[in-house]
Amino acid sequence: MNGDEKLITKICIIGAGPAGATTSIFLGKLGIEHVLVDAQEFPRDKVCGDGLDLNVVRVLNHIDPDFIENEMIRSPQNFTASSGLRFILGNGNHVDIDGSNHESNNIKSVTKPIFFVAKRSHFDALLVSKINRNITSLRLGTKITNIVKTENRWKLTGVNSSGNLEIDAAFIVGADGDHSVVLKHVGERKIDRKNYAGALRQYWTGVTDTHKNNLLEIYFPESLPLSYFWIFPLPDGKANVGYGMASEYIAKKNINIKKAFDNLIKTDPVLKDRFKNAHADETIKGWGVPMSGSSRKPNGDGWLLVGDAASLVCPSSGEGIGSGMISGYVAAKFLERACENNDFSESMFLHYNREIHKRLRMEEKLFRFANAVPVWAFTKGIRLILSNKHFKYWFEKKEMPKWIKTAYNEKITVNFH
Ligand SMILES: Cc1cc2nc3c(=O)[nH]c(=O)nc-3n(C[C@H](O)[C@H](O)[C@H](O)COP(=O)(O)OP(=O)(O)OC[C@H]3O[C@@H](n4cnc5c(N)ncnc54)[C@H](O)[C@@H]3O)c2cc1C
Repeated sequence: MNGDEKLITKICIIGAGPAGATTSIFLGKLGIEHVLVDAQEFPRDKVCGDGLDLNVVRVLNHIDPDFIENEMIRSPQNFTASSGLRFILGNGNHVDIDGSNHESNNIKSVTKPIFFVAKRSHFDALLVSKINRNITSLRLGTKITNIVKTENRWKLTGVNSSGNLEIDAAFIVGADGDHSVVLKHVGERKIDRKNYAGALRQYWTGVTDTHKNNLLEIYFPESLPLSYFWIFPLPDGKANVGYGMASEYIAKKNINIKKAFDNLIKTDPVLKDRFKNAHADETIKGWGVPMSGSSRKPNGDGWLLVGDAASLVCPSSGEGIGSGMISGYVAAKFLERACENNDFSESMFLHYNREIHKRLRMEEKLFRFANAVPVWAFTKGIRLILSNKHFKYWFEKKEMPKWIKTAYNEKITVNFH
């Protein structure tokens, strides 16, 4: 190999998924030079449900107040705008939580969608395109293979198609997802089954009976508790179809979730007719979901973690893009302070853990409660809650408007003390 390269930097971010790209975008806005590496060239795929929640919208509004309108609403060939959720119960009944019920029955009149769905190959590349390359040394297609700490600096070894890349950094940000190489070097990548799920995705074309307002569909099969099946509508008659289940339950019952997923599509009375004339566009793909609630330490002397590397997926919804992006925003603010003080020790990041978790505490409690009740009570509880008309009223009229107001109008606060 030839063309070896050496970079010396204050900050090196490893991973340019939503969490790493967001950290980089905000460091760029703050004028803080840094290096960002990713093992892959973009666009690249990531196994995901492709659902973008209001946390994502909130961070995007901080990147550029016109982002949603210009890049998403005006790009219906890449983004599906959705006004809510359809919960499907084991008996086939469904409950629609539809934000557009406020305005009219037409999604076009909903000025502020509640979800978007976009293939990660598109969304992640779009985020990477917003990185300021005058401030960021971006090295895509470069996989970090080794990390060593000497005194108070880090030496990273990366490999790309033209040779080796050596990076000398004062601080490293682990944004390299669930299989984080940074986490392996600074702590221990131990799967905490109580706060972890296994999940699958398969792109389909031609699934029938999707909702005209593109509601994101979530189905709780009664025969398979602590799991959910989803159909998230994509542009052009395509859909992201997937299935996730709590890892503890998978292990306890020795469940093969690929088989369970396939069976649901082929035989479940609630689903099978909708897939009769549809076809899968790919083989089933699986990946892990590290959920918030584990005791993973997200920072130390000269390092911090963001996104999946920090185990930040919302445990009640399985959404980790938005919480990962928020952690990127928070990380950039802490790093700004560390740069101002020229101090990258752990003491500068004392409350980082609190700040990245504070919006997830309620969901963590809810998930712990759901896991503590017997499985039959969980299944019955879901059915009772979802079919209660007060739940629908509360969700549509109280909860959703609150979420929208926060996402579109409120600044993300970061407290250092
Ligand atoms: C099946 C499934 C469905 C899901 N559905 C949803 C959903 O609908 N909505 C939602 O919000 N969340 C969903 N999630 C969770 C979501 O995918 C993750 O939370 C999110 O991708 C986390 O972003 P991240 O930037 O932390 O990590 P990633 O998106 O995983 O990005 C990590 C990046 O690091 C790079 N990298 C890894 N190792 C190295 C290395 N050694 N050197 C250099 N670069 C490296 C990778 O190439 C990658 O680009 C789902 C997850 C799964 C598995």
